[in-house]
Amino acid sequence: MGTSGPTRGPGKTAGAQGKNLSPAQGAQQAEQRLGKPCYHAGQKVPGIYACVTCQFRINNRGTLPACPDCGEIIWAYMGDGPRPVPEGETAPAQATEAPPAAATEEQVTLEPTVQEPVKVEEGIKLEP
Ligand SMILES: [Zn+2]
Repeated sequence: MGTSGPTRGPGKTAGAQGKNLSPAQGAQQAEQRLGKPCYHAGQKVPGIYACVTCQFRINNRGTLPACPDCGEIIWAYMGDGPRPVPEGETAPAQATEAPPAAATEEQVTLEPTVQEPVKVEEGIKLEP
């Protein structure tokens, strides 16, 4: 008996890197790449988001749109605190270090000095 079977490097899951990613999969991949919670157009999550492609920023209050600048549908959450949970979805069972927010401030200001620079590789795409 020999060892048979193709070895394709340290890939986690085979076939997960297809070109036809669902929006949710795209958001998931973007999240892994950027290290920030990512969402896709159609999800109802309030907060400040940056387009993962062109870094266009929006202060979203309802349902995430497609990027008005480049058409991207994946957004990275730029706010502080625990990752927001889209309306209609349940919170993932993840261990978060962030304490529960007692009060939510309505006012959100875009202060470039507070935000750490988003490290996005130029030409980042959802497909390899
Ligand atoms: Zn964009």
